[in-house]
Amino acid sequence: MTDFTYALDADGVATITWDVKAKSMNVMSTEAFALLDSLIDRALADAAVKGVILTSGKKDFAGGMDLNVIARMRAGGAQAIFDGVMQMHHVLRKIERAGMDPKTKKGGKPIVAALPGTALGIGYELPLSCHRIIAADNPKAKIGLPEIMVGIFPGAGGTTRLVRKMGAMMAAPFLLEGKLSDPKSAKAAGLVDEVVAPEDLLSRAKEWVLSAKDADLVKPWDDKGYKMPGGAPYHPAGFMTFVGANAMVMGKTMGVYPAARALLAAVYEGALVPFDTALKIEARHFTSVLMNPSSTAMIRSLFINKEALEKGANRPKVDDQTVRKLGVIGAGMMGAGIAYVSANAGIEVVLIDAAQEAADKGKAYSEGLLDKGIQRRKVTPEKKAEVLARIHATTDYAALQGCDLIVEAVFEDPKVKAEVTARVEAAVGEGCVFATNTSTLPISGLAKASSRPANFIGIHFFSPVDKMMLVEIIRGKETGDVAVAKALDYVRQIRKTPIVVNDARFFYANRCIIPYINEGIRMVAEGVEPALVENAAKLVGMPLGPLQLVDETSIDLGVKIAKATRAAMGDAYPDGAVDAVLFRMADQGRMGKKANAGFYAYDASGKREGLWEGLATDYPVADSQPDLTTVQHRLLMAQVLEAVRALEEGVLTDIREGDVGAILGWGFAPWSGGPFGWLDIIGAARAVEICDSLVATQGPRFAAPALLRDMAAQGTSFYGRASGEKAA
Ligand code: NAD
Repeated sequence: MTDFTYALDADGVATITWDVKAKSMNVMSTEAFALLDSLIDRALADAAVKGVILTSGKKDFAGGMDLNVIARMRAGGAQAIFDGVMQMHHVLRKIERAGMDPKTKKGGKPIVAALPGTALGIGYELPLSCHRIIAADNPKAKIGLPEIMVGIFPGAGGTTRLVRKMGAMMAAPFLLEGKLSDPKSAKAAGLVDEVVAPEDLLSRAKEWVLSAKDADLVKPWDDKGYKMPGGAPYHPAGFMTFVGANAMVMGKTMGVYPAARALLAAVYEGALVPFDTALKIEARHFTSVLMNPSSTAMIRSLFINKEALEKGANRPKVDDQTVRKLGVIGAGMMGAGIAYVSANAGIEVVLIDAAQEAADKGKAYSEGLLDKGIQRRKVTPEKKAEVLARIHATTDYAALQGCDLIVEAVFEDPKVKAEVTARVEAAVGEGCVFATNTSTLPISGLAKASSRPANFIGIHFFSPVDKMMLVEIIRGKETGDVAVAKALDYVRQIRKTPIVVNDARFFYANRCIIPYINEGIRMVAEGVEPALVENAAKLVGMPLGPLQLVDETSIDLGVKIAKATRAAMGDAYPDGAVDAVLFRMADQGRMGKKANAGFYAYDASGKREGLWEGLATDYPVADSQPDLTTVQHRLLMAQVLEAVRALEEGVLTDIREGDVGAILGWGFAPWSGGPFGWLDIIGAARAVEICDSLVATQGPRFAAPALLRDMAAQGTSFYGRASGEKAA
């Protein structure tokens, strides 16, 4: 174990350097923490050591705890987690007290954290226990505590220390939202003490160590008469903060995220007791969160599996397919966004539309986004010029020469797409991969227009392209491995998360989201109170209720999809009741948000005002209403059963993709880890029970798939089944 190394210089300053050899970013493991502990002991015990610099041998300090370790910690159960966390508290407290006399608070050795770059999670909690934090002025660095984003909270003293350092109100965005700061903003917020030029980092750290006084080593909370900034809970100002924070968190999370509740409890209860007791309280709440299946599921999907997919877990083993020159055909809403994210990632882009004006407009979209970035100080004028110079807007297909990937985003019309395919193939080389961004047309059908179907693939972006992190890659019947690898390498270049699915109606994401919307609309037709539908969805963690969602995506798109689906399915089409509502809305011109009228009412500026009262004229609210749980089961099962069917049919081949895709693609209740995560939390037997009872009242669309029934009979789980071949 060499994650930390130790060196003592002639002036008595020991440097402990963190450098995990096998990784590009330092992450903390249990063994490394034990090593750090022994090196701290060594420094404190050695009379020749005057003080310690804790730094990193890499360009960054650390990315946090190895979440794989956290996943394993659970295996030992609650007591083992609690003991492990208390051991960490013990070590960090040892650093904080640094060998000083507990009564006089004298004689301690100064320990300074010198951060060359990013410091996240335990990578910031460790510096928080040091006596001073000096950060290099590295604008790319991110400092903070992002734990809440994966369903846990800072549990190595970060919660308790940050609240005591800056007060609950000021600490709230860093703890509750996982807000990250660059070094200068971190200094302004009080997260770090000093920012220095990168080349001065270690010399300044040493200077501080050699000049530090006893008083510099005593943390405010270890000083007599310490008062929490902003006031503890029973102080009038503190009272306001805590009441407000509680309401705000419940409003934002709808109470479905255990970590947010536990964090608030740890802060509140911790503020009422001495520091060391507060650490113990933090450890108890942290343990309860780690033992909650939601945190397991969130870490699994939002961190471990998301990263595995980004690193190419399902990439065919072929040579590197990095994209050098990209052609984007169709400079409309999607094409313009695709050109922007690609040029931003350093790829040369040829952006083609039928008219020069349209191509220029597509390029102007990038300019608009870059200008916004400049206003927000996220983009420099030089960067803007660089990115725009990479986008060549034209109508001339000859400019596509040399492209190794094409993304087609023209009108959703097979004829137009076929024409474009032929024109592109005449202009590019044999090896160029052709991807269509269609959202509804089967890839294998569109590939018929291609003379090179092995190079034909679906790359399905979500709107808005610059914000949505998921990209769905669709393998047609004849799509070859090189095309899949090309799509995956491209998605990695633009720093999004890919899933690879097989070709079928609506692929994966839309296939699951459409039944969710339809179930909401169906309930309106049945006389279920629309507010009950919307709130039931939000209370189970969906970001948008089904009615708001269809307003956002537009009613006319819904009508178009319904008509096409009905035409394709004929008598088997199951959604007549839904269409009656949808078509009625369209007839009244209520096309959704873009028309300022839909299931919701909007004011003149487009602000949503509330559910449209006129809905009750056609669909009066029934006297008897279903209970909340039934509505939630209908809304969740509508999506989840579709995901299971996609798996059964081989559209999905990896449940990790099903879960990550659901959360990133349409915001499926992130607390659950995704549809398969949710089914594993409730168990297959319970899921089948819910299906059976819904079939009795709602009909066969809720029939439990055979796979789920088998799993219930055998007592297996999705991730349990998968763990044989694929790490969960
Ligand atoms: P859009 O109407 O905004 O843009 C289409 C563009 O293609 C227009 O600028 C048009 O001038 C251009 N075009 C049409 N025919 C052309 C031709 N022969 N040669 C060159 N350019 C041509 O449409 P959009 O919303 O950007 O959708 C484009 C594609 O992306 C569609 O296949 C759609 O299904 C798919 N898609 C859309 C969304 C979405 O939310 N809008 C999401 C995912 C996928």
